[in-house]
Amino acid sequence: MSALPTAHNDDTIVSLATPSGRGALSVVRLSGPLSFSLAKRLAPGLVLSRSRSLASLFKEGRLLDRALLLLFPSPHSFTGEETVEFHLHGNPLLVDELLEALLSLGARPALPGEFTYRAFLNGKLDLLQAEAVDSIVRALSLRELRAAFQQSEGLLSKRLDSLREDLLACAARVEARMEFPEDPGLFQTPLPLDPLKGVLQAAEEILRASPLLAPEAESLEVVLLGRTNVGKSSLLNALLLKERALVSDLPGTTRDYLSERILVKSRPITLYDTAGLDPSESRPLEKEGMAKTLGLLEGNKLLLFVVDASLPPSPQDREIFSRLSDRRVVLILNKSDLGRAFSDEEAERLFPGTIGTVSLSAKKGTNLPLLRDLLERELLLCSPEREEELFLNRRQRFCLQSLSLSLRKAIAFAEEDAGEEFVAEELRSALSSLDRLTGRAGTENLLEELFSSFCVGK
Ligand code: GDP
Repeated sequence: MSALPTAHNDDTIVSLATPSGRGALSVVRLSGPLSFSLAKRLAPGLVLSRSRSLASLFKEGRLLDRALLLLFPSPHSFTGEETVEFHLHGNPLLVDELLEALLSLGARPALPGEFTYRAFLNGKLDLLQAEAVDSIVRALSLRELRAAFQQSEGLLSKRLDSLREDLLACAARVEARMEFPEDPGLFQTPLPLDPLKGVLQAAEEILRASPLLAPEAESLEVVLLGRTNVGKSSLLNALLLKERALVSDLPGTTRDYLSERILVKSRPITLYDTAGLDPSESRPLEKEGMAKTLGLLEGNKLLLFVVDASLPPSPQDREIFSRLSDRRVVLILNKSDLGRAFSDEEAERLFPGTIGTVSLSAKKGTNLPLLRDLLERELLLCSPEREEELFLNRRQRFCLQSLSLSLRKAIAFAEEDAGEEFVAEELRSALSSLDRLTGRAGTENLLEELFSSFCVGK
């Protein structure tokens, strides 16, 4: 398939817009200059001046389905082009029949993200809004969903547009001073730095309003660790309520690590189940698994240190625990259904400084709600909800950071009287960061990469 930006934008594209499978309805979306005429060929009774019709669709003279057709004339559609939505009965065979018919009449299958890409090209959305459309589909929590929706409505775009105006005004002034050095009017007053400082402050506020930034930081990250066979995989399964991790009686079945997401109070938590830690291990594969486990502990993760509390604490438990100093650790006393070999007090003495202790049985599910409550509390602590939130992705964050860096430099150069050309250069790069952020200036490669990560039909 050709890459998006070079794809033929005057083609009429078609794709299933709802998940494939059986259901009450399936929606097929057709967009491009031939949309109305193709719809009319399949549904001869269709009245093109009506925005909505119940119509009989025919393929090679056979009745295919009676479907609801929504007609959007250009530019009043999501893509800005002539668009038809076919609301069929939800059967994949029917969808295939319709797609085949449309393709044989001259439509072509849409590439991933191509509908949104066209909306972007036709000025219906800027890049931030287009990305937000994807975020709405992918959001894992109500909080993310709300933020993505606000962003799709252009909340951030509007703010950035007004920053751009301020920035442009300053940059124009600096450029003018370079262009007309002999004009005394331009030099009578020093460069006004307040607007620039205002833009800098606003950019940094936007960064701060984004509590959950890079994709991997979009949730609380929780690592299960401990010796082999203490029940880490069983605990992961109990939290997931499904058999994802392989539970076995033999020590050492999770040689690498697994990660899974769960929702606690509709917010995502990423759980990592790790290879058991055995400080005396010498076999290469097992050692590699342990090295990966220790590597996972980097960053601000919550650690669930699991011990088998039905057995006396082993020196290995204590040795592993001693490597976790300065970390946020919750002590999990597992296998409580088998009886306890030591009390909570002894546990706290042996494993001091944890942020909480939960005695539970991963196998029987006893006390799991206590652990869920604790995770919820941690989740709230790590990201208190705010009135207004922006969930910036890595690309957006990077552009904003570059913008604020350039502004800082421009302000410093201006304050040091370092020379107009230095200030001008930084302001140009600040503007270019801002334009890359909103897609006003975007390289073709960037667009291609972004839209191809969308679902087909979006
Ligand atoms: P891991 O190596 O730490 O991941 O341990 P697993 O989850 O594979 O469990 C090791 C063994 O302990 C398995 O036979 C589990 O069924 C058993 N096990 C895990 N949790 C419990 C528990 O709460 N109670 C009991 N009785 N057995 C458990």
